[in-house]
Amino acid sequence: MSQEYRIAVLAGDGIGPEVMAEARKVLEKTAAGEAISFAFDDQLVGGAAIDGAGIALPKETLAACEKSDAILFGSVGGPKWESLPPNEQPERGALLPLRKHFGLFANLRPSVCFPSLTHASPVKESIIEGGFDVLCVRELTGGIYFGSPKGREERDGEPVAIDTMVYRRSEIERIARVAFTAAGSRDHRVTSIDKANVLENGLLWRETVEAVAKEFPEIELNHLYVDNAAMQLIRNPKGFDVVLAPNLFGDILSDEMAMIAGSLGMLASASLGQRAAGPGFDAAGDAEELYFGLYEPSGGSAPDIAGQGIANPIAQILSAAMLLRHSLGLGEAATRIEKAVRAVIDDGLRTSDIFTEAEGTRRVNTVEMGDAIVERV
Ligand code: NAD
Repeated sequence: MSQEYRIAVLAGDGIGPEVMAEARKVLEKTAAGEAISFAFDDQLVGGAAIDGAGIALPKETLAACEKSDAILFGSVGGPKWESLPPNEQPERGALLPLRKHFGLFANLRPSVCFPSLTHASPVKESIIEGGFDVLCVRELTGGIYFGSPKGREERDGEPVAIDTMVYRRSEIERIARVAFTAAGSRDHRVTSIDKANVLENGLLWRETVEAVAKEFPEIELNHLYVDNAAMQLIRNPKGFDVVLAPNLFGDILSDEMAMIAGSLGMLASASLGQRAAGPGFDAAGDAEELYFGLYEPSGGSAPDIAGQGIANPIAQILSAAMLLRHSLGLGEAATRIEKAVRAVIDDGLRTSDIFTEAEGTRRVNTVEMGDAIVERV
């Protein structure tokens, strides 16, 4: 009997629905080769939900996510909703509450520059020749963004702003385990980022990561101060495998890595919460390493190209592959998708964002790119 997985599909705004359609096609084709099937539950989110239901994250959408094995998210936002009060806007009104509701504490952002797409990177060819593949694992629910006290007060007649960086050992342990586990299916190297020369948080971070590393003797661990990491990632991105970072540092470094990689249209991301449990997971093997998660492209709704059918669907498709790997335990199926993406790039297919006039390349639109990947899965 085939195993059915329930996926909440929140396509959102702008290019979201365009690229989501391609990701669904790829998932359906992948399922056809395995004893699995997907029940997609389409729900409103973001601007589309504001227009359709008056709020960026309607109750029905949240309920559908709760019933699902994972969430596949498109992107939200656009000029139409920018004049709303900040908390009602699509991103703040939908994405942040979703992260909070599901306790999504681990943000995984692969920064992959394909060997034939190094021209899309602003870094010079001599540094990134042959491409690179770095995974940033960022702690998402702790640290200075959430610590208390937080706020403003008056001191000696002038305003003072206060943010507090707080990490518990258990928070560091669980994010470190995600990073070490991810490194186990990659190049077995973790670089942990901190500021242990200045911050108490850095000292606790470093000693905790070292303790967790003992559970993973096959993984090589080294440490970098965040300022040095910012430099080394540009100087030699190929030297990194998994980068493990606290919330603030990961926020900055993962954007730096996205920029170095080239096009936002190629970059997937995952936000993982509690360990997965429930009927969908019994057949999936090692449930210890599976998490409930929200999977989305690193880019936004790209209003500048929305509706033209030219967006790159690869970020959304690779997000779907991450969903299979991290929430459903279908690592082989995920690898099939990733290989199919590499194959179409090797074959010279390019959406506009990654296109340059060169021998052997062909400009394709969103649907053509999706079809080509489906064909190769
Ligand atoms: P953006 O990522 O939407 O676009 C930045 C640039 O990258 C644009 O030129 C766009 O065309 C290009 N781009 C992004 N994805 C692409 C793809 N798949 N194919 C080809 N080109 C692609 O960022 P922005 O312009 O700063 O924001 C636009 C809207 O998206 C805003 O409303 C913002 O709030 C929202 N946003 C949403 C999310 C999210 O849903 N998680 C994330 C970032 C921004």
